[in-house]
Amino acid sequence: MALKINDACVNCWACVDLCPTGSIFRPGTKAHFVINPKTCTECAGAFDDPQCASICPIEGAIVRRGEALNPPGSLTGIPPERMEEAMARYRSR
Ligand code: SF4
Ligand code: SF4
Repeated sequence: MALKINDACVNCWACVDLCPTGSIFRPGTKAHFVINPKTCTECAGAFDDPQCASICPIEGAIVRRGEALNPPGSLTGIPPERMEEAMARYRSR
């Protein structure tokens, strides 16, 4: 029972202090924060939802068994099928 942080993480530190079990850290071998699978409880018994995912600003950075807790479009409000178009418009400015 543990979540994972993948390489979409931008190392913003937002999740680190929220973790009730101190499970989030940045090992020297990785370019991004990781979750200690031995101590992550998915916040069970402490909070209604995983605190790291509740504050993470990056869609897809925190996953449970390969499923993003903040899937594409959930934070930006931009439907995934419109993201490419939105990004192209942004880059052309
Ligand atoms: S789910 Fe909870 S216990 Fe696990 S890393 Fe995230 S904040 Fe920490
Ligand atoms: S809140 Fe998200 S982006 Fe920020 S350090 Fe944690 S996992 Fe990485």
